[in-house]
Amino acid sequence: MRALDLDERTRRERLLAPAAAVADACRKCAIGYERRHNVYGEGDPLAALMVIGEGPGETEDMLGRPFVGRAGQLLEKMLGAIGLAREDVYICNTVKCRPTSPGPRGPRNRAPEPDEMANCRPFLDEQIDVVAPGVILALGAPAAKSFLGRDFQITKMRGRWYAGPNGVPLIASFHPAYILRQTGGEIEAVKRLVWRDLKAVRAKLDEVAALRAAPLRADKMPEPPPEPLQTGLFGEAPGTVC
Ligand code: SF4
Repeated sequence: MRALDLDERTRRERLLAPAAAVADACRKCAIGYERRHNVYGEGDPLAALMVIGEGPGETEDMLGRPFVGRAGQLLEKMLGAIGLAREDVYICNTVKCRPTSPGPRGPRNRAPEPDEMANCRPFLDEQIDVVAPGVILALGAPAAKSFLGRDFQITKMRGRWYAGPNGVPLIASFHPAYILRQTGGEIEAVKRLVWRDLKAVRAKLDEVAALRAAPLRADKMPEPPPEPLQTGLFGEAPGTVC
């Protein structure tokens, strides 16, 4: 890694660490009192791609990390299919505390409410400002709506490019947890759409890198995609991911 990158990485880490501490102490929403861990976000502060989901689930809340558990494993396969490792990207959510509703067997996950997303938005905006990604991938309808408005429909409007915060190209796709919930023939249909979105992300990352006239750093150059991509989607034999 170049010394310049190292200095810049350190600078950004020094900005993100105190912001994470502020988020950790935040109790602006009721869910701030209910969560076990604040899940601020993690990843490469120099990342070209920022992945933004809706909010932490049970496993994330337990571990204090975004996109872990089955959905996280699927996200890693999705990223791997376009030549990116989890460590290459920055991953966070629209809200940093787990949104829950009471259920018969204890609290269960729910989508974040608009006021919770609004309360938490300064943390997200700060992350976007500091990391300054070239591309944003919003996963799931709540994350997409937080940027594109409440009328956004994930089934109809995903897979297109929008101007995100600071003009960063933003695309929305299905959340890995949604893919995991699909059954039967729906799985392959949804995976095909997601694969199309992922290829668009890959192409945009390459385009942004070229526009910046600064090719991806040698240590971040993606490996050529693994061969059976089109058949397996996300590097798995058809039907085995979910
Ligand atoms: S969701 Fe965000 S704004 Fe709300 S309490 Fe948690 S950290 Fe604070």
